[in-house]
Amino acid sequence: MNTWLQANIPRAGEEWIPLREKFEGGIIESVSVLEEFENNVLHRVEPYLRDRDILRLEKREHVIKDPLAYYVPYHFSEMGIYFRINKMISDFRAFVSKYPWPNNITVNELWYVYVMTIFWHEMAHHVIEDVATLMEWMGKARYPLMPHLVEEMFCEFNAFTTAEKQLSPPNRYNIPILPYANLPSGISKGETAFLNRRLILSCLYYHWGRNNPTSTYRPIVRIEASQAVDGLWNGLWNAHKGGYEVVKAPYEIYKRLYCTTL
Ligand SMILES: [Zn+2]
Repeated sequence: MNTWLQANIPRAGEEWIPLREKFEGGIIESVSVLEEFENNVLHRVEPYLRDRDILRLEKREHVIKDPLAYYVPYHFSEMGIYFRINKMISDFRAFVSKYPWPNNITVNELWYVYVMTIFWHEMAHHVIEDVATLMEWMGKARYPLMPHLVEEMFCEFNAFTTAEKQLSPPNRYNIPILPYANLPSGISKGETAFLNRRLILSCLYYHWGRNNPTSTYRPIVRIEASQAVDGLWNGLWNAHKGGYEVVKAPYEIYKRLYCTTL
């Protein structure tokens, strides 16, 4: 093995840790504001709905069914990320009404963090597929690279750590369920934005039960994951954060973002 391939990053045992302190605040928005917001999102996603593809594919081997999205790998012509929009909307509603949000956080900012966390999780599944493809070319390993549960935890680790640092879509590609192209100001730059992002992500962590030691989606790097990506992760992951296509898949993942009501 070459030395440049030996630095396994992220390292085994790394974990995304939420805020622990309690916070005070008021209830964020009225129910009517939330309803209008949801209708706006549902209206936007109509052209991207692909229920028939998901019905055909959901039981196929290697198609990943997460609670709020599907990842269809690139050996299927329907490859892509499919947001489960109905499940997202109802879970988001429960999330918004669960916590006393500070007054300076808007529903749009919550949605942005919520969507981007799911997006980065699914993107991590895609990049694992890229790593597996490179490994296959080198004759070292094949897809899938690691046990499914280990992969879910690894994807969730990348979802939380990346959403904390980068909420803008790769290279400003359009993510159909985000109502505005620009990042809302309360979560974009500066110290307050960083604290807001961490606060929202911490609430999401507890809302999704990631603190439960038996959670399938605990954001932690297991040793099998760190070893499986074998020094190839950082370069490929950063390339995808920037919107670059490194390994030639049949289609660019950034243009394969769809929705499903299933
Ligand atoms: Zn997953």
